[in-house]
Amino acid sequence: MTFLQQANTGVQALSPYQAGKPIEELERELGISNIIKLASNENPFGFPESAKKAIQNQLDNLTRYPDSNGFSLKAAIAEKFNLQPEQITLGNGSNDLIELIAHTFATEGDEIIFSQYAFIVYPLITKAINAKAREIPAKNWGHDLEAFLAAINEKTKLIFIANPNNPTGNFLTEAEIDSFLAKVPPHIVVALDEAYTEFTAKEERVNSLALLKKYPNLVVSRSLSKAYGLAGLRIGFAVSNPEIAGLFNRVRQPFNVNSLALAAAEAVLNDDDFVEKAAENNRRELKRYEEFCKKYGLQYIPSKGNFITIDFQQPAAPVYDALLHEGVIVRPIAGYGMPNHLRISIGLPEENRRLFDALIKILNLK
Ligand code: PMP
Repeated sequence: MTFLQQANTGVQALSPYQAGKPIEELERELGISNIIKLASNENPFGFPESAKKAIQNQLDNLTRYPDSNGFSLKAAIAEKFNLQPEQITLGNGSNDLIELIAHTFATEGDEIIFSQYAFIVYPLITKAINAKAREIPAKNWGHDLEAFLAAINEKTKLIFIANPNNPTGNFLTEAEIDSFLAKVPPHIVVALDEAYTEFTAKEERVNSLALLKKYPNLVVSRSLSKAYGLAGLRIGFAVSNPEIAGLFNRVRQPFNVNSLALAAAEAVLNDDDFVEKAAENNRRELKRYEEFCKKYGLQYIPSKGNFITIDFQQPAAPVYDALLHEGVIVRPIAGYGMPNHLRISIGLPEENRRLFDALIKILNLK
């Protein structure tokens, strides 16, 4: 007997999520210092000062459970985005919300639609709950929404869309999403994962919260891990119609968001300067990456996120290893079926320079 056989059949088929390598781990393994991490799409400007103060003020309250309903943070989110607090669900990172959405709407035998090369947590949670994954072949690395529509059947319970998508950086316009939603049967829930939306240019950003008024089956999730700089605290939020939010409230863990995350999120939510600084650095530096790739003939997937995915046109694992020896951690994405690509998070100008120099050296670029 093994416990593997005892696990639910969906879990038997799972492989653990491969996170970016932590800096401390590489320090231990190679005994080097001055490492930079461009592997997990974190905010390169560090933890926001506004959040630090809020956390300090919370320290004396940590003996008590957090506010299970996140009253104060929900009020702040509602105020900022012109919503009702009843529409908001808080999550321990937006990963928690993705799981919550799947658990709430799908079970064994149901079908969940998502794209090839879409965020890997969609297939993970689909398998874990024994639902059937309908993975739609990508078009130019992105979502083929026509094919999504063709895949809908009576077993379809849920559709995941990441916009921008990770790890490809692909982006769907508001018109594309709107016209897709208009064709999805209204009982099928569409989860629009906008973990990177703050990095898109204001003029092209999808006004997804306005689409909620038109489509009661839409759930939008946002993350505070990226542009807001709170990855280590784990906090995100979902917006939906209040009935759906009520269902999430039945399924979620009672205290799924901790007190420090609640306080920090409330503080940083209106720290527009911090978010804008990150978005502005990202716009400028993403352009530098594109110019670098063009100059040296490297193929890349155009990205609207805070990362860029480069195609080395040969197995990328040796490049990844060589970068580690140069003290630069990036993200292999063979687990996505992209063994020739590496995903690189956009860092500060000097971090990006180090990555460029390391690639020039490793690949002998001329
Ligand atoms: N959605 C997408 C598309 C992501 O890339 C990520 C982070 N890798 C998440 C959701 C989850 O982020 P978090 O749980 O930190 O909010």
